[in-house]
Amino acid sequence: MSDNKKEVKIERIGTCAYCGQIGHIEASGELSQAEVDAMATDMCICLDAVNAKRKKVKEAKIKEFVKQKFVTDEMCNFLNEAIELLNKDDFEEFTFKQYPDKVTKIWKDNSGSLNIRIRKTESDEFKA
Ligand SMILES: [Zn+2]
Repeated sequence: MSDNKKEVKIERIGTCAYCGQIGHIEASGELSQAEVDAMATDMCICLDAVNAKRKKVKEAKIKEFVKQKFVTDEMCNFLNEAIELLNKDDFEEFTFKQYPDKVTKIWKDNSGSLNIRIRKTESDEFKA
């Protein structure tokens, strides 16, 4: 591997996806225009861009919680996909019933917050 190859940052011009405002960004020349536009959108302070950022933060927080609560990648990916659909406003809520007694509900409330509740429907009982 060559270590002479430094990432050179140049001034790039990106456009906010929401308001169309142009931003000057220091970015690698190797980034695609779409990536530079995404950075400009991230930096923009228009209402839509700010709301989109808030959505992303909420989504990341819920996904982090899911990661802690569900051990398999399969389950995490499945739930993460549901979270993304909720955040796109394609769905209002999901309920997953997992064998034998675990019920996970994910929903978006009126304030736009994402919620998750994992409930065990049966208590563990044992007698000897
Ligand atoms: Zn904007």
